Amino acid sequence: MKIAVLPGDGIGPEIVAQAVRVLEALQSDGLPIELENGLIGGCAVDATGEPYPEATHRLASQADAVLLGAVGGPKYDSLPRQQRPEKGLLAIRKALNLFANLRPAILYPELANASSLKFDVVAGLDILIVRELTGDIYFGEPRGIETRDGQRVGFNTMIYSESEIKRIAHVAFQAASKRQGKLCSVDKMNVLECTQLWRDVVIEVAKDYPDVALSHMLVDNAAMQLVRNPKQFDVIVTGNMFGDILSDEASMLTGSIGMLPSASLDQSNKGLYEPIHGSAPDIAGKDIANPLATILSVAMMMRYTFNHEESAKRIEQAIKKVLVSGRRTKDIAESNSSLGSVVGTRAMGDAVLSVL
Ligand code: NAD
Repeated sequence: MKIAVLPGDGIGPEIVAQAVRVLEALQSDGLPIELENGLIGGCAVDATGEPYPEATHRLASQADAVLLGAVGGPKYDSLPRQQRPEKGLLAIRKALNLFANLRPAILYPELANASSLKFDVVAGLDILIVRELTGDIYFGEPRGIETRDGQRVGFNTMIYSESEIKRIAHVAFQAASKRQGKLCSVDKMNVLECTQLWRDVVIEVAKDYPDVALSHMLVDNAAMQLVRNPKQFDVIVTGNMFGDILSDEASMLTGSIGMLPSASLDQSNKGLYEPIHGSAPDIAGKDIANPLATILSVAMMMRYTFNHEESAKRIEQAIKKVLVSGRRTKDIAESNSSLGSVVGTRAMGDAVLSVL
């Protein structure tokens, strides 16, 4: 289990340190984990002039999985676009061909008051959005802005090949079969031919997964159903643009950005694992950031890259127990939380480790 560790900027090093302690605990229990650190984002620009240096690329290419903190910060906002820390993220996703983005939106019942929706609608929410990450209108050609008949027109191309749809559909069906066995494919086949093909191919792939119940939904309805009755979903699979929007909507249902992990996988389930939040420069270096999204990213790594469900469950159960015990970092604490139950980044790591 070769893991490249890229803490990045801002709170990245603080939260990744706690996730590494969890990996070290699994290692001392006998898992063959090897860890090696590298630079990405602003700290890499400081050291080498590049947000995704060659040495980091070598390290990431040779690893089975990458654990990433977050990149960016005000110090780097005035750099030319090519040198911006966020370029490092796009570069590593592209270089490793990470086409499948898995974003769970989980709301532990203990944190249901963090959501802007009613308790009953979201308590116990546990859905997974599988978003295609390297195709669709974001990459399709031709694209541009040009003058036609004396006025400017802007255009992009929504395009998916059969093989691109097939490979993301397989990832989604496999994820659903490890969960509740329900998959909802989201498209806009009533007006977009590209997504008619999407639906046809997903139906063909479904023949390989007789145990997964497949349904289809138009994207406008899916956006509505996510706020009306989100618990009807288990796994949702969709293209790059619809997935971009729906996964942000779903994650915000939970109201706790410090709790949400993500995975981006390639064809062989090699993956990049990171919290969905950014580098939070406003709280960096203060030992108050929530490390749980990063620790949950390690659980996803165990599940999806290493096929080690037992370790994934152990980590998730440990976090659940810590939450049940009442301990909270500041971002998920309620205003009436007792003083002793609000803990810092490292103390939250201690709490998870002691249960683990
Ligand atoms: P952000 O996610 O960093 O922060 C938004 C808010 O959430 C802030 O108030 C922050 O304090 C809080 N927050 C985030 N993570 C938290 C945690 N673990 N615990 C407690 N509170 C947390 O988003 P932003 O402020 O828009 O961006 C800050 C920087 O991060 C920018 O440079 C941006 O480009 C970068 N960014 C990076 C990534 C990434 O690395 N994947 C993603 C988004 C933003």
